[in-house]
Parts: sequence; C-alpha cells; structure tokens
Amino acid sequence: LVIGALVGLTIGSWAIDQLPTDTPAEQRGALAGKAATASIAYLVFDLIGDLFIQGLKLIIVPLVTSSIILAIVGIGRGAGLGRLGGKTLLYYGCTSLIAILIGLTLINFVSPGVSDGQGILVGQDLSAFEDAQEKVEDKTGGKSATDFLDVFRTMVPPNLVKAASDGSLLGLIVVSLFVGYFLARLDTDSQPVLVKFTQGVYDITLKITDVVLKLAPIGVMGLLAATVGEQYAKLRPDGRFEAFLTGILQFAGVALAALLLHLLVVMPLILMLVARVNPLRHYKAMAPALITAFSTASSSATLPLTMDCVEKRAGVSRKTTSFVLPLGATVNMDGTALYECVAAIFICQAFGIELSFAQQFMIVITALLTSIGVAGVPSASLVAIVVILTAVEKQLQPGLLPEGASLVAGMGLLFVFDRPLDMCRTAVNIFSDSVGAVVLAKTEGETDILRPA
Ligand code: ASP
Repeated sequence: LVIGALVGLTIGSWAIDQLPTDTPAEQRGALAGKAATASIAYLVFDLIGDLFIQGLKLIIVPLVTSSIILAIVGIGRGAGLGRLGGKTLLYYGCTSLIAILIGLTLINFVSPGVSDGQGILVGQDLSAFEDAQEKVEDKTGGKSATDFLDVFRTMVPPNLVKAASDGSLLGLIVVSLFVGYFLARLDTDSQPVLVKFTQGVYDITLKITDVVLKLAPIGVMGLLAATVGEQYAKLRPDGRFEAFLTGILQFAGVALAALLLHLLVVMPLILMLVARVNPLRHYKAMAPALITAFSTASSSATLPLTMDCVEKRAGVSRKTTSFVLPLGATVNMDGTALYECVAAIFICQAFGIELSFAQQFMIVITALLTSIGVAGVPSASLVAIVVILTAVEKQLQPGLLPEGASLVAGMGLLFVFDRPLDMCRTAVNIFSDSVGAVVLAKTEGETDILRPA
C-alpha cells in the first residue's frame, strides 16, 4: 500500500513538472492527468493492477454461482433458507439505513453547499458544468440514468450468458438461489452428480483464487500507484473548481467523516453488542479485503478476498459465508447509500434549494433502494445520484433552478474527489458485508468465529 502510494505520488509530481509553465490554470489538472497516464511507469503499474483485477473478476462468476448453489443445497429442505434470508435482508436494510441517516445528519449540520447564506452554485456561470451527464456515462462505462425500478429488472436476467459476461451479479445470484433450491429438492439420480459437479467447480475456483490472492500485494501496489499517480496529477485544482474548492473540500470532509463514523463506531458497536466479537480482531481479520476494496474501488472484484477473509480469518462457516457475502457485495452497500444521500443533498444546497422533510425522506428512501441496485464497480454511485437528482428535480417548484440548468449538472462538483471517496465507501461496503456474515453466523449458533481452525 505504502510503496504503491509513494510510486503514485512520484508519477503525479513528475507529470505536473512536465507542464509548460504557461499552461492556463484551468487546463493544468486535465493535462497533468494525461501526462501521468502516458508515462511508462504508469503503464507498467497499471498493467499489474489490471491483471490483478481481471484475475479477481475471472473468479467471480464461478465462485458466486457454485458457492451459492452449494450453500442452499447445504441448508437442505427445511425452513433454514427463509430464516437465513430474512435475517440477512433485515441486517442489510438496517445498516444501510443507519449509514444514510449518519450522512443526512452531518450534511445538514455542516451544509458545505452553502457559503455566506447562499448556495455555492447560485449566480455562477454553469456552462463549464454542462457535460456532467456525459462524464457520468464516461466514468460508468456508458450506463445512463435509469430509474431504480431497473434494480428489480436485473433480478431476472433474460439471458444467463449475457448476465455472466456483464458481471451482473444480482441476476446470477437470484438464478443460483433458484438452482440451489430445486437441486436440494431433486429426486433423480442426477442430483448427487450435479452436486458433486458443482462442488468440483467450487474447489477448482478456490484453488485459482488462492493463486490470485497470493499476488494481491503486488496487484494492490500496481493499482494504487496508477490511481494515486493519475489522481494526484488531476486533483491539483484547476481554475474551474477553484471558486468552489472550499465547498468541495468541506463536502469531501463530511462524506469521509460520515463513512468513518459508520466504519469505526456503528460497525464495532454491532460487532460487540450483537455478535459479541472483539472489533479489533475483526478489523485485523478483514485487513487484506479492506486494502483490496480500497485500492480496487470495487466490491465485486473484492468479493473473492472478502469470502476468503471471512471464512479463513474470521472463522465463519462456509455455508454462511457463501450465502451472505455474494448477496452483500451487490445488495448491501452502506458506504454507497450514505454517499448517495450526502452527495444529492450537497448539490441541492449548492443550488440554494431548501429541501422539505418530505423531499429529504424521499432522498433517503431512493438512496436505500438504489444502493441495492448499483453494481459493485468503481463510480457506480454516480448513476444512482443521477436517478436521485432527477427524482428530486421533478418535485421542485418551477423557477427554483436557474433557466435551463438541471440538478444533474451540479454533479460536476463531485468529480474532483470521486475516486478517493469511492475507495473509502467501497471499503465500508465490504466491511459491513463481513460484519453481516459474523452477525448471521452468531445468530445461527456458530461458535468458531474469530477462532479459525
Ligand atoms: N465502488 C462502489 C463499490 O464497488 C460502488 C460505488 O459506491 O460507486 O462498492
């Protein structure tokens, strides 16, 4: 981690030094970013990082499908599945809601979007912000704003192969749950053969996972060097954001403080009070997964590591791990839900819009629902924030926004710190999943937690 960060800072500083001294301020960030990503050092570290992420992604589909099927078969024909499912969803819902409420409180308290009683975007020239929507699409691989009902659509993938190739986890999980459910109830000769086959797929995937995980330190170093290098070069304020920099910095501070509160206060309390587990030992057990989540900014790519840490280092049974974590990686995103709420309210503040209680309530609910649906990939929250802002805008009285402006354009304010905050919220996302696995295991009577074999 440290070596990667240092290499990244060196690449970033080098890129900034390459800029001709007369480069206009508003172009410095973008040009330095380009120079950083074109350097040989960046390309080498980026390649190492990419190979690591691709290795992780390679494992995800067979790992998720085979582990869920086996977990459901392991639960058998009794009522265990409903009980486990109910408790898991209850945990996910409650923790995401707590996270959102922490964010909501802090953002209303600090109000970083308001300066001297006025929204920081009020009366400003917004022409530089017009490309916000395109930038979101750019950052999220062309995904445009969709309403949150699409979450429910992805649950039933019309094409299994496409769902797998898109890495659309939610659909695969639902299909695997059904396959496991019916496999456990199959009364034909093929039943044991199919279970053995699935077990074989799972065992081989685990072996490949071990190889990829051995390379994790090098992969993390590569990812971090490349990300820090590019971000450091880009983040040097360019003219476009200077006017808003105080607000943006305060916003990033609020988001970070809220994420840390959730990670370092709420999560340990749940571990201590509900699961009766020493939080420090759990942080230690989860350290490799936390570092990977931080450097990949992707809960999905981190999933193999999260599962490995929870099972081997935190001592949760394979059955619970296989059920709770794949589902959690896509459905339970506390950090993402919190960030969506904080970001949406910040933008409304910046436009000088005072939200009513009902509007804030709507943001809370939409953040909760969209956090279920966003994929565990970098910058995925941005898509959800577009959905939230579009919904808020529909409710606004006419005339509250400047002529021709849209709330989505205000997202230009978010791009400055999107990557660093994404790294942090992803770490919170996967940590909450791991705490969920421990809580579930405890309530299911497992006794080996944090006493790994
Ligand atoms: N990068 C996050 C994740 O993978 C999603 C997001 O909040 O953008 O968990």
